[in-house]
Amino acid sequence: MKLHTLDTGLFKLDGGAMFGVVPKSIWQRTNPADGNNMCTWAMRCLLVEDGKRLLLIDTGIGNKQDEKFRGHFYLHGDDTLEKSLRQRGFTSADITDVFLTHLHFDHCGGAVLRTADGALRAAFPSATFWSNQAHWDWAVTPNVREKASFLKENILPIQESGQLKFINSVSEGLAALPQFSDLIFADGHTEKMMVPVLDYKGRKLAYMADLLPSTGHIPLPYVMGYDMRPLQTLAEKEAVLRRAADENWVLLLEHDAVNEACTVQHTEKGVRLAETFRLSEL
Ligand SMILES: [Zn+2]
Repeated sequence: MKLHTLDTGLFKLDGGAMFGVVPKSIWQRTNPADGNNMCTWAMRCLLVEDGKRLLLIDTGIGNKQDEKFRGHFYLHGDDTLEKSLRQRGFTSADITDVFLTHLHFDHCGGAVLRTADGALRAAFPSATFWSNQAHWDWAVTPNVREKASFLKENILPIQESGQLKFINSVSEGLAALPQFSDLIFADGHTEKMMVPVLDYKGRKLAYMADLLPSTGHIPLPYVMGYDMRPLQTLAEKEAVLRRAADENWVLLLEHDAVNEACTVQHTEKGVRLAETFRLSEL
């Protein structure tokens, strides 16, 4: 099994919203903000090459949004999902499985594209798209606070394509996607976000999604203001970080604009960053 990170471009989000109750005087040391208080974030996907299966984990924001939307989130950088796939020698037609950690636009937007005649269709014609029933139901009938993150044009065409399947338990997940050695369901960020864990080069590697967006979010109270259930994020993050420190896990960071991956260690203050590196350096 071979793993590749795929950069799909950068965007900006308000630094305060990304760090919740933590004051700017503290978070800006690790995540400097621009004049509008915005910090830069990556949308980093993971590609798993395993025999006949080519599994893509998350898809970035995609390219079907209009200028107004793009301006709102300051989409920038040279990378796109298509370009990064091509650099690895693949096209979207080669993808057999698309695993969506959750359906917020910065994670699933690339799953649906707009054709020249304006129609929306699945961006991966041969792929099965994996979500779970509880999260799907939550996303298609969104609460007011989370509504701006669940865009219908990113979600409904996946179902209409007939390529959508659900994973509703850990055992179902490991049966459907044997590339995973574990699957963590987390409810703090949103209902039933899925964090996949893989065995890679003798280590556990977790694709952290929004359970740990960046190395700047390792200390426990550093929880995004976007999270639906912040106290639950605290507990979920603590449990995963403890195991990661105990067992020297590789943590793949979807949103860290600087660091692709890190390890963590136990310290007197709690679990803290140990090393940062690129996946290719493993
Ligand atoms: Zn996100």
